[in-house]
Amino acid sequence: MSRIAYVNGRYVPMRDAKVHVEDRGYQFADAVYEVCEVRAGRLIDERRHLERLKRSLGEMRIAMPVTPRALGVVLREVVARNRIGYGLVYLQIGRGVARRDPAFPFPEVTPSLVVTARPLNITKNEALAAKGLAVVSVPDNRWGRVDIKTVGLLPNVLARQAAIDRGARDAWFVDKDGYVTEAASSNAWIVTADGKLVTRQADHAILRGITRMVTFEVSKAQGIIVEERGFTLEEAYAAREAFVTSATQIVMPVVSIDGHVLGDGKPGTVATALRRAFHNFAETA
Ligand code: PLP
Repeated sequence: MSRIAYVNGRYVPMRDAKVHVEDRGYQFADAVYEVCEVRAGRLIDERRHLERLKRSLGEMRIAMPVTPRALGVVLREVVARNRIGYGLVYLQIGRGVARRDPAFPFPEVTPSLVVTARPLNITKNEALAAKGLAVVSVPDNRWGRVDIKTVGLLPNVLARQAAIDRGARDAWFVDKDGYVTEAASSNAWIVTADGKLVTRQADHAILRGITRMVTFEVSKAQGIIVEERGFTLEEAYAAREAFVTSATQIVMPVVSIDGHVLGDGKPGTVATALRRAFHNFAETA
C-alpha cells in the first residue's frame, strides 16, 4: 500500500507529495510543525499539540491556513488512509511560496499545510525502553527561541549524528553556563538521590514538551516532587536515574551520560513507573 500525504488541500500518494522550490519552509526553515503519537488509530494529546501549534504560529506571525476543526479532520484522514494503528502523525505549516527574500512576502501568500503519518514499531520501542539509552553531551549552539517548534533543526540533526558517531543514541544539549537544556528531540530529566525529578524550567531554551507537561501530572499522582530548574552535567552524572520525554518516546530511560553509568546501568524504577502510567493521563481523541 502506498503512503498517502496531505499537501495543500489534496490527499496524494507519497511520490506525488511535493512542494514548490520557493516554499519558504524549504528555503528559510520558515515553518512550524507538530508530531502526535497515534495509538489504536487515535490521536494522543491532540488538544495540547494544537494549542502549542497556535502559539508557535503566533510567535512566527504565520496565519493558520485552515480552522482547527478542519485540521483535526485532515489529521484523522491521513491516519486512516495510511491505516496507522500505532505510529505518528506529522504536520507542518509554512509561511508559503514567494520569490526568495527574507522579509515576509507582501502581499501575504497562503500558508502551506502538509500532513504525513507513519507506523512505529511498538515491540522495538518497548525493547529500547527496557534497555535504556546512552546519551552524550554537546554544546547547545541553537538560536535563542527553541521554544517555538520550527523546522529549523540543523543543530539537532548534527547533535544526533554526533551522538551516533560517538556510539550513543541521543545527545543532550548543554548551555554556555554548563546547564543541560534538553535532548536533540526530547526533554531531559534526572532523578536526584533523594528521589526528586528535575527538568529545566520552560524558558526560551527548551521546547515546552507536551509529554513533559503530562509527565508533571503523572508525577503528581505518584506523589513525586518535580523541580523545574536547570541542572548541570555533574549533577546528571551523579543522578540516580535519568530519562527523556517526547511524543513518540513517551518516558524513555537513559542509562548512561558521556560514559558515566547511572545506578546499575538499567532503566530506573521511577522512569519505568512513569512510562507505564503515562497513557492514563494523556488525552486520547
Ligand atoms: N525538545 C525537542 C527539541 C523536541 O524536538 C521535542 C519533540 O519533538 C521535544 C522536546 C518533546 O516535545 P513533545 O513532548 O511535545 O513531543
